[in-house]
Amino acid sequence: MKMLKTILRQFVHKPVTTTFPAESARYFDATRGHVVFDPSRCASCMICMKRCPSQAIVVDRAAKTWTIDRFRCVICSQCVELCKFNVLSLATGYSVCATSSERGTETFLITYVKQKNPKKESQSEN
Ligand code: SF4
Ligand code: SF4
Repeated sequence: MKMLKTILRQFVHKPVTTTFPAESARYFDATRGHVVFDPSRCASCMICMKRCPSQAIVVDRAAKTWTIDRFRCVICSQCVELCKFNVLSLATGYSVCATSSERGTETFLITYVKQKNPKKESQSEN
């Protein structure tokens, strides 16, 4: 009888899930949405790639690219905490949906330029 009541209740209640992305998702302050990358600060040290437990990040020094596979990323925040250059952060919003053929991979061109050391330059001029 209890089960019948539960089944009948489902016919009149709205579903508890939302039809994301048609209906926008709800975010909270602590929601881990997705990893955000700032290409102007990345020094290509590769720490994030080496320490990512899901192997979701690929840093290509030669091509100057930083790639994340959003299907692999479990949003553990390890890369955000380990990056010494404050390149990575977590945003509360979820990233745009991707199909399995697109593989959810995003590649960024690294634009960081290492600042010259003025002390070293003046020493070499003398
Ligand atoms: S994002 Fe940070 S940890 Fe990853 S390669 Fe760039 S500087 Fe290094
Ligand atoms: S949040 Fe975690 S799983 Fe996602 S890329 Fe960073 S280290 Fe990898």
